[in-house]
Amino acid sequence: MSTVTADAAAASPDRLRITEIFLSLQGESRSIGWPTVFVRLTGCPLRCQYCDTAYAFHGGEWRTIDAILDEVAGHGARHVCVTGGEPLAQKRCIGLLERLCDAGYEVSLETSGALDIGAVDPRVSRVLDIKTPGSAEVGRNLWSNLALLTAHDQVKFVICSREDYDWARGIVAEHDLSARCDVLFSPSFSQVDASALADWIVADRLPVRFQLQLHKLLWNDEPGR
Ligand code: SF4
Repeated sequence: MSTVTADAAAASPDRLRITEIFLSLQGESRSIGWPTVFVRLTGCPLRCQYCDTAYAFHGGEWRTIDAILDEVAGHGARHVCVTGGEPLAQKRCIGLLERLCDAGYEVSLETSGALDIGAVDPRVSRVLDIKTPGSAEVGRNLWSNLALLTAHDQVKFVICSREDYDWARGIVAEHDLSARCDVLFSPSFSQVDASALADWIVADRLPVRFQLQLHKLLWNDEPGR
């Protein structure tokens, strides 16, 4: 981005701080496998111990919503995933999501579960993390978000241990989550054996979807892939 363009974006009232915009395959969630444009917003107020996007905590570039939409359109994919960091930490993310929906994309939002999702456009599929004790950020879960979930949304648990699994299973039952939206269980990469987690789910006939992060299997989680 030229200095002049960057200065104009920084001064704009509809600017957002962006770490990267790239085309890849969706590696997780209900949209797994679709060619998808990822819009990664900069910044996150959490510090999960397994975080694989710490490079998005700082830096980034100011971009106007118009410029973001232009770049997304240039990739020519139908699916767009707004992610971070924690995208909702930037208030203007709400406007970006609305504009992406208006433009006709299938839009998903990956959010930590720590911030209110109530203002997100209902056309967006919200992928809401529920942070387990093993994440080291369980105290950040905003439990009032669960009442806002619809069948269009998804909740995701990253499981770090058998204790995390038991805890997550209890939360799914307590809030009847499987009856309300898709529930995704993922193993924390290198912390819990993926086949062990799969076995626990099968043994319990737990009404959740096991998933492995496709982008880690394909590209070892390189940034921008
Ligand atoms: S919420 Fe996401 S981006 Fe933020 S620290 Fe946790 S894993 Fe990383």
